[in-house]
Amino acid sequence: MKLTSAQFKKDFLSEIETLYSTALADTSNIEQYIALGHLVRRYNSQSWTRTAKRYRDHQQKQVYYFSIEFLPGRLLAMNLLSLNLLSTFKRGLSELGLDFETISQAEPDPALGNGGLGRLAACYMDAMASLRIAGNGNGIRYRYGLFKQIFMNGYQVELPDDWLRTGNVWETRRDNKSCVVRFGGNTWLKKQPDGHLQAHYEHTEDVLAVPYDIGVVGYHNDITNTLRLWSAELPPSVTKTYYSQEQRDRVSDITKVLYPDDSNTAGQQLRLRQENFFSSAGVQSIVRDFCENNDDLQQLGKKIAIHINDTHPTLVIPEMMRLLLDEHDCSWDVAWTLTMQVMSYTNHTILQEALETWPIEMFKTLLPRIYQIVTEIDRRYRRQELPIFGQKIVDQTAPLGNGQVRMAYLAVIGSHSVNGVAPLHTKLLKTDVLRDLYQVYPERFNNKTNGITMRRWVQLANEPLSGLIDTTIGKGWRRNPNRLQELIPYQQDDHFLHQLLEVKQQNKWALAAYVQKNMGIKLRTDAIYDVQIKRLHAYKRQLLHVFEILREYFKIKDHPEQAVVPRVHVFGAKAAPSYHYAKSIIKLMNAVADMVNQDPVIGDKLKVVFIPNYGVSLAELIIPAADVSEQISTASKEASGTSNMKLMANGALSLATHDGANIDIIHVAGAENEYPFGLTAAEVYHYYEHGNYHAADFYHADPELKRILDSLIDGTIPEVETVGREIFDSLIQYNDEFFVLADYASYTQQQRQISHDFQDQPTWQQRALVNIATAGYFSADSAVARYAEDIWQVPHDQLT
Ligand SMILES: *Cc1c(COP(=O)(O)O)cnc(C)c1O
Repeated sequence: MKLTSAQFKKDFLSEIETLYSTALADTSNIEQYIALGHLVRRYNSQSWTRTAKRYRDHQQKQVYYFSIEFLPGRLLAMNLLSLNLLSTFKRGLSELGLDFETISQAEPDPALGNGGLGRLAACYMDAMASLRIAGNGNGIRYRYGLFKQIFMNGYQVELPDDWLRTGNVWETRRDNKSCVVRFGGNTWLKKQPDGHLQAHYEHTEDVLAVPYDIGVVGYHNDITNTLRLWSAELPPSVTKTYYSQEQRDRVSDITKVLYPDDSNTAGQQLRLRQENFFSSAGVQSIVRDFCENNDDLQQLGKKIAIHINDTHPTLVIPEMMRLLLDEHDCSWDVAWTLTMQVMSYTNHTILQEALETWPIEMFKTLLPRIYQIVTEIDRRYRRQELPIFGQKIVDQTAPLGNGQVRMAYLAVIGSHSVNGVAPLHTKLLKTDVLRDLYQVYPERFNNKTNGITMRRWVQLANEPLSGLIDTTIGKGWRRNPNRLQELIPYQQDDHFLHQLLEVKQQNKWALAAYVQKNMGIKLRTDAIYDVQIKRLHAYKRQLLHVFEILREYFKIKDHPEQAVVPRVHVFGAKAAPSYHYAKSIIKLMNAVADMVNQDPVIGDKLKVVFIPNYGVSLAELIIPAADVSEQISTASKEASGTSNMKLMANGALSLATHDGANIDIIHVAGAENEYPFGLTAAEVYHYYEHGNYHAADFYHADPELKRILDSLIDGTIPEVETVGREIFDSLIQYNDEFFVLADYASYTQQQRQISHDFQDQPTWQQRALVNIATAGYFSADSAVARYAEDIWQVPHDQLT
């Protein structure tokens, strides 16, 4: 939109006046941020209304993306970028003596997700709006987001994330769109005079689901889609019913906290309540909306698509069946056909044991009507497939089995499409994780490699780089990231390569300033910035990275006179509070960091910074400064990864195993521009099959590795008596589940190569350039366009 900085200043001052009845000079950064938020909403309010009306008028097919997590990041700068108002706001504020960055950082970063899964959902919301897809998000408005992480004596301590304390300017509560979700009680079917069965409920616990809508602004296209997050409340008491404190708590507990586990939370009743809560409320509001605009239920599959992001929202399938059967008088067959047409499912899990299941007893008690429907889905599935596939396959794939409701199987059976998130992952779904269901429904399986929104991860996070790209190839890449390829010819342009280096340097300064201010550690900016940022998990192998640090440390200690290429190792990682081993690794990382950073012999040749409270905002600060992207999971364990894509787009070279989308990065940018290493997935599976991995052999065969492992238990590293022993034993006594020792040699070999190669900066920058230029392949816009074409069957704008 068009706006002069004079008009902006006038509007801003009037907003301050209206909200706070005080002068600008007397307001805090958070108040200024809130006023800016109100202003953005005012400028964009008509677009939101117009978008809804346009979709209705054109009877456009609606996509509903269900996800138990959304990790959108701060919205002020993002919305301004999309509205093309960022520079006007910056200029206007600076004319008022204010700094946009400072104010922008006062915005709370909504941590309504654990990591990759939630961030993917946010990137896809952004892409849908930018592609003019009628895309709606559906999730949970957690009162408390993912815990805030601090370190005490090097151990992780979790503090509550009270992100709503100062309110949320971006949300609109819509009381008139509320609906009731039932739990517990009894259900029975009663024959009506006309012969059909009507569901009846008694003694249910009724919860009011209240939606809070957040606008999702498309890029320069006058589209504003909706992310709807549900909050649990007590239904207004129409009678003089009195609610006890316990009843109140039971209800508000449903949306009180995000489960802080980023793979799986086994068997917690409250988690099942959360899943049913947002699945049921979402589907009820979709069907209600549909019926307001259509009178033919047969059109359902043509007018709506529901996407299930991992298994947490799988109950949308029986919930849709319930509404069609119980409230819209459909026959089972009609209801099932419509449900299947509507539903599609993305799997994110590789580990068989991590597939979500619920004990039937708990499920039946909490959701009696939904359970009846799942039982009928199970019965019909078995009846239909038994004659074709036999007892064994049917038993191994039915929704009910081993006393459990098997969510992934239910999701596959009730959907017309099942996708993995990188080619290797999709292959493993077919051959391993969902092998038997792939026999039954081969045509449903497809791959959709993950993508990231370059708008946040390059345009917003890396303004110096974006500016350089603009002056080099123009601004076309901002709309179509595939056009980053136009940078390829500049590989031979020394001036450009030098500017690329200067951009990286500038981003390192910014990160170094943050680290100095918040951690008191001084970093040099000519060092290699070697970055590993992701959840703390044994399979992601932060431990392997720690071993490299110890290797370098011992080398410098042994030969302080030798020249070394200076390095800064940057970590960001939260561990699930209940994940004991991950927390021990955090303690080890902090102990090693302290030992290295305080050693005068080491000086600034080697620094280790473990920045606490990793999240989207920190990612935006760290990623642009990275030279090396550590993507070192055990092959076959990381479904895709997305931080690998963010780092690539910002010119970091990947030090990567043959896992997830690393394989595709290496393919797209060329192996000569990355540092691949380690076992392949096939080699890992071979070890499993033959049981012939012997971690201790590596320990005994390699003196350098032995010294590193021994340092965990011989007092070399201060304060790790307990965790050091635990980690040592996990490798030697318990045979190193994630093949850290098997990959040690090839990993450190590549690390030495990096130190060597980094000294030739022109060549290094050439390779960084190829990474940036080819990163468009991983744009969320392209990924979402493929979902739109192959799965949802909805129109989308072309990237031009
Ligand atoms: C992208 C992102 C992730 C995912 O990182 P992976 O390395 O792919 O696991 C996790 N957390 C945040 C905050 C992110 O931005």
